[in-house]
Amino acid sequence: MMEKVDATSKKNEKIALFASFLQQLSVNELPLACYYATGQPFSETSGEKIQFGWSSFMNVVHQLTNRTNDDLRGFYRKKADFGSLVEYALLKRKPQPQSLGSYFGQIEREEHSIEGMHEYLRKIATYKGKGSLKAKKNQLIQLLRHSSPLEAKYIARVITSDTRTGFRGGLLLDAITKAFDRQGKSVRYAYMVLSDVGEVALVAKDHSIDLLSLKPRIFHPIRSMLASKAESIEDALSSNKKLICEPKIDGFRAQLHVDKKECRLYSRNLEDVTHAFPEIIASFSDDLRKELAPMILDGEVVALVAGKPVFFQDLLTRIQRKRDIRASVESTPCYYYVFDILLHQEESLLNTPLSKRKELLNSQLPDLTNIIKMEYYEYQNFVNIQNQLNRAIQNGSEGLMLKDPNSEYQAGKRGKGWLKLKVTLPTLDLAIIGAEWGHGRRTGWLSNYHLAAQGTNDYHMIGKTFKGLTDNEFAQLTEQLQELELSKEPYGISVQPKIVVEVEFDNIQESSKYPSGMALRFARIKRIRNDKDIEDIDTIETVRQLYHQQLERQKRADKA
Ligand code: AMP
Repeated sequence: MMEKVDATSKKNEKIALFASFLQQLSVNELPLACYYATGQPFSETSGEKIQFGWSSFMNVVHQLTNRTNDDLRGFYRKKADFGSLVEYALLKRKPQPQSLGSYFGQIEREEHSIEGMHEYLRKIATYKGKGSLKAKKNQLIQLLRHSSPLEAKYIARVITSDTRTGFRGGLLLDAITKAFDRQGKSVRYAYMVLSDVGEVALVAKDHSIDLLSLKPRIFHPIRSMLASKAESIEDALSSNKKLICEPKIDGFRAQLHVDKKECRLYSRNLEDVTHAFPEIIASFSDDLRKELAPMILDGEVVALVAGKPVFFQDLLTRIQRKRDIRASVESTPCYYYVFDILLHQEESLLNTPLSKRKELLNSQLPDLTNIIKMEYYEYQNFVNIQNQLNRAIQNGSEGLMLKDPNSEYQAGKRGKGWLKLKVTLPTLDLAIIGAEWGHGRRTGWLSNYHLAAQGTNDYHMIGKTFKGLTDNEFAQLTEQLQELELSKEPYGISVQPKIVVEVEFDNIQESSKYPSGMALRFARIKRIRNDKDIEDIDTIETVRQLYHQQLERQKRADKA
């Protein structure tokens, strides 16, 4: 099926083909087919992770097919498609010593069913800790032994979470809409509330369910609403008469779910991070939970020392359990700055205008020890906003968030409803696509990183840097990057784009060095964004826009 979908470049044909396939599936198969179509082994909300790197997969292919590493990596360099590489390797499998079983013809190939494949993936994901890599490899060998080269191509894409299926984003939702004769608007709404394409397909199939009446559910995090970049206050005011202004604080985005019995915190990639912030959870007494529940809040976790935010990386070490949390609660307590409310008792607030949500938040949530309702002002003139911006900067914020008071909560979307105005230099979220071995103090570490922005179907390199990281971070990245190695290069290695870094720079220049024509001047890594996915990186279009805005600014400054 996916081969047919991939073969056509026509959007409507892709949708129609996949829609009729979805109609034929059982309720067990339907969600799985949806995850696989987007290049994911499991639902994003399940917390299940396969934890099997590209390099280990390559070892398995090498083992199964007897093809040399150079041959495999050479193919990848030409095609840059791991699924096709696995298909190629299985087709061109070199003869291996034959077992007696295969001589007597006992090893028959069984066709994989969707559910059968799920069993294998589940098993691979279950192995954890010491010895798990070997066990995972063995399972994968079993799976691939019984797979045709074409099946192996798609298995590889799912296991390495390669999202090049051409079925990303809205296309799958369109196919679900068509398959089950629903309205696009209601399917997209269901996705916003459920955050799980498999579940969306199931509810869309069931016509007794009114999709628009679905509500966010406790302990099922929904995607965070995102903000677009604003160039200036004038820019923000040009599209909105009034703006809700809040400080943009530099912390860790989190969604807090309050139930009668307990509270749980989720990161922006829907991971449960409750364990990392006991002081925030402890702010809710038993009685208070009973009074408020069910409630879903949106906000930012910030660690404060002497009233000033401390480095973001500190929060991540708590989440990764690399730190004694009790000691950290003592030395660097965390606070939850709440800026939004998405569910209050049984009422979904996603379609309620922001100004109303703010009123409700203020009237319903009391002041608590480690919970701070974020201060906000509604302004319509430049001077007020400028003063607010100056105040925010003095208090250690990155800038302002400027929000349309009438905006609905658009989960997972980066729209114009929320704008971010930073006074610090702009930053870009970029992927590391290659790394060079370091010299001197950095010997033994992969430390000069090749940085790329997202193109339509590829990545565009726009700079390199070894600046901004600690020794521990170099060591950590060296380990992670080696697991993502695609090929050895004269400079070091090229890697599968998976790691996201936030990069500061002095300015953007036109460049003949990189095919994108753009280069960052004096790039440095502000932080490793383990909380962001590769789909979240900035596009080359954004880089070009920033470049043009910079030119405009220079022209204005020259005239003045
Ligand atoms: P960025 O990560 O640069 O795209 O900026 C958006 C992020 O700023 C959000 O995901 C939040 O983590 C963070 N943030 C800080 N303050 C606010 C605020 N007042 N409203 C919304 N997001 C905020």
